[in-house]
Formats: sequence, C-alpha cells, structure tokens
Amino acid sequence: MKRIDLKVGFRCNNYCRFCVQGDKRESLPAKDVSELYASLEEGRREGATGLVITGGEPTLHKSIVDVVRRARELGYELIQVQSNGRSFCYEAFCRRLIEAGVNEFGPSLHGSTPELHDWLTAAEGAFLQTVSGIRLLKKLGQRVITNSVITKSNYRDLPALARLLVSLGVDQFQFAYMHMSGRAAQNGRWLAARKSLIEPYVKRALDVGIAAGRTVMTEAIPYCLMSGYERYVAERVIPSTRIYDAGMVVADYTAARKQEGKARGPRCTQCAWHEECEGPWKEYPEMFGWSEFEPVRVKEGAQARCAD
Ligand code: SF4
Repeated sequence: MKRIDLKVGFRCNNYCRFCVQGDKRESLPAKDVSELYASLEEGRREGATGLVITGGEPTLHKSIVDVVRRARELGYELIQVQSNGRSFCYEAFCRRLIEAGVNEFGPSLHGSTPELHDWLTAAEGAFLQTVSGIRLLKKLGQRVITNSVITKSNYRDLPALARLLVSLGVDQFQFAYMHMSGRAAQNGRWLAARKSLIEPYVKRALDVGIAAGRTVMTEAIPYCLMSGYERYVAERVIPSTRIYDAGMVVADYTAARKQEGKARGPRCTQCAWHEECEGPWKEYPEMFGWSEFEPVRVKEGAQARCAD
C-alpha cells in the first residue's frame, strides 16, 4: 500500500450533476480531527508515503491545515488536496496549505467556459474561482494536476478545455468518464454519452496536452476505445491505495474496482488486453450494452507509442 485517500467530510459548495457521493453531504457530519489523525497514523504504520485529502470538498473542513501539518509530521512525502478548486482562489489560504505541507493540488475543471463548467457543477461563479485558483497556484510555483469528468454535455468541448488547461500551465490533466453512482446515477439517462461518441474528442484533447509536453491521462475508458493512446490509460499507473471513507475503509482500491466497481463483457476474454484491462464501470454496459467493446487482437498501438 503506497497511498491513502482520506475523505475528511462530504460538505461541498458545488452541486455537480455527475457527483458520485449522493446524499452523503446531508447525512454525514465532517469527520472529527482525532479520527483523521488516527487514519493518518495507521496509514503510515502500514507503509503509505502518499496522501490524497478529499471529500466532498475538503477545503471546507475547518481543520484541514492542521490535518496537513500532522501528515507532514508523520512523514508523508506526497500530500495532495483534491478539490473542486474554488478555495484555491484565496492566496492566504493557499499559502497556509503550502506552509503546512501540501505539495500537489488537484482541482477539477469540467468545461472551457463559465457557462459549461458552472452548469455542470450547478454553481454560479465556480469557473471563475477555479480558474483563478489554478493561475494562483502556478504563480506560487505549485504542482497542479486536474481532473475533468466526461459527460454528454462537455465531450465536444474537451479539445478546447485541453487548450485552456495548457494555457493555465497545469502539469497534468486527466479526463475521467463519469461513474454512474450517486447523483450521476440519477442523471445518467440524459448525462452519459456513448464511449464510441466521445473517443475522437478525447484523443484530440490528449493530443493538445501531448504536443505541449504535459502529462495526460484518461480514466474508465478501456483500451479497446483508446487505440494508439493506450499508454495514457490511468489504470496502468494508479498506485496501490487504501480509502478512508465514511465509516468504512476500502483496504485495496484496485481490488475493489476490479472485483466490484468495473465489469468485463462476454467477448473480453478474446482480447489482448484482457489481463490488464479493468473494463468500464459496471453501470455503463447496463445502460449501453457491450457492442462498442471490440476485442483487440494485438497490442501493437501501445507498443509503438510506449517506445516514444
Ligand atoms: S478486455 Fe474488453 S473492455 Fe478491455 S480492452 Fe479488451 S474488449 Fe475492451
């Protein structure tokens, strides 16, 4: 186990239409700082050197700076705050996080315009705050890695979003196909796009980042829909992670994803990627079926690009 993912609470100032957390924001209080410290200590005892602080929106937790400081004292080397990014527009707050020990920031941006991002997050003004936050963090010399959720509403915008992210100076960006759980499950019928439809836009957006020398990734898009871009499949490199969730611990997130979260189809055993591939989130074929997942005969594309 290399990394822990610490969920500090589920309050949030966005109301994303693809949020996987369902009604946890209403039903669960923020975790007490003593519980958070205990999780940090257990993680270190088990050998983790990486920490991702997340939620909900973790920057709304009143003790977040203390949690970061405690993590640094315990010896965590990588300390990332994964956030909707709105709080990062406040310079004094960012400086406190950096001084306490944060060395990687993970804001989310889901569209290249205020209209699109604010609509997807159901939060007027969110785009302006998150973009300002990214600019500020880069001005402060911080490493910024972003996540963007792919939906039917924004897949055509991905190349423009990639251009914006490059211009903002992000170090890495990732496009993650929406996981139809929580509110995303309620909205899935009209918000989820077919993966074969998004494929050319995802690849054009990745090309923007690749040409600019940025690290780029995709998540929850299997290899058969990433022909020529297989090296950018994030599941290849996601580190071994334990999740401290609400009232429960997921000891091995990779195993949980493979055994419970994802699914493989009836023809996947014929595929050259069968061993490595996790398949799509299981809700996807329940909605769209398996016809788009064409078994790959040889891994030629990946080898050619991996040798770059
Ligand atoms: S194993 Fe199945 S889902 Fe994965 S790449 Fe092959 S055909 Fe696609």
